[in-house]
Amino acid sequence: MKIVLLGTSSAVPTLTRGLSSTALIREGDVFLFDCGEGTQVQLMRSGIRRSRIHSIFIGHLHGDHLYGIAGLLSTLHLDGRETPLNVFGPEGIRVFLNAAFRTSDLQFDFRLTVREFPRGYRGRVLDEEEFYVDALPLDHSIFCLGWRFQEKDRPGVFNLDRAEEMGIPRGPSYGRLQHGESITLPDGRVVTPDMVLGPPRPGKSVAYCLDTQFSQRSIELADKCTALIHETTFGQDAVEMARERKHSTMEDAARVAKEAGAAGLIATHFSSRYDGRQIAQIGDDARAVFPNITIARDLLEVEI
Ligand SMILES: [Zn+2]
Ligand SMILES: [Zn+2]
Repeated sequence: MKIVLLGTSSAVPTLTRGLSSTALIREGDVFLFDCGEGTQVQLMRSGIRRSRIHSIFIGHLHGDHLYGIAGLLSTLHLDGRETPLNVFGPEGIRVFLNAAFRTSDLQFDFRLTVREFPRGYRGRVLDEEEFYVDALPLDHSIFCLGWRFQEKDRPGVFNLDRAEEMGIPRGPSYGRLQHGESITLPDGRVVTPDMVLGPPRPGKSVAYCLDTQFSQRSIELADKCTALIHETTFGQDAVEMARERKHSTMEDAARVAKEAGAAGLIATHFSSRYDGRQIAQIGDDARAVFPNITIARDLLEVEI
C-alpha cells in the first residue's frame, strides 16, 4: 500500500501546504481521506488518477477537510465517469452535497452513494473481500470520525515441495488446504493446512485520526497498526491552544502511537504559525516519546 499526503496544513492553506487530504492506494484503487479545497489539483500533481478513486471518507465537516469534495465530484462528472463512488461521512454531509449539486444543477451519470453516520457512530462502514474499514468517534470540537483501513490476513505461502513430498495429489486438494480445510489422502493420512502452509501473512492497517485531541479512542483505533496518520496541529509551545480547540500537539500524537503499539506515525495537519524548520524541531522533540515519526509534507509518499 502507498500513502500519499496531498494536503498537510490545518485550517488555512499556505504557499507550501494545502488543506487536509490523504490518499491511500492499494492494488490500483484510491481511497481518499478528507478532501480540503485544492485536493483535485494536488491529485494531478501527485500523478494519482482520480478515475481510480474507490471511496472518499470525510471525518468531520470543518471546511478545511470538506470544501474540496464538491469540486472534485463535479470534475469526475465532467470526466464522464461511470464507475460507482462511495462517500462516507458524518450526519450533515448529504445536506451539504445536495445543496451544492442543486445550486449548480449537477446530476451525475455515475452512481454516487453517500452514507452518513449519526453522532457517536462506531462500526464497520466497508467490508470487501480483501479489506475492511472501521469508524469510531474521535474527540474534536464537532462530531468527528476516525477511520481504520484494515487488510484482511492472508493464509501463509503454500509450500509446493512439501506438498509433493507428502504425496498430496495436485488439483483441488491444494486449493482446499490453502483455504484452511484439512484433507484426507487416499491412504487415510490426514493433512492439515499448517503442514503445507507457511505462517499466516497479517494484513497491513492504516489508522486516520484527524481532527482530535488526545483520546483513548484514537489509541483503540490505531491498535498495532502499520501506520497511524494523526493530526499534530501544535507544538508544546501551544498546549493550551491545543486543549481549547480540541486539537493535538505532536507529543499527544506520539503518545497515541506509543500506547497503541503502532509501527509508525505520520504527523500532519500543521498550524500555519509554524514554518518547516519549526515543524522539524517539534518532530525532533516528540521523538523522545515515539521515535518513528514521519513529518508529512505535501505530495510525500510513504510505502507501507
Ligand atoms: Zn482541520
Ligand atoms: Zn476540525
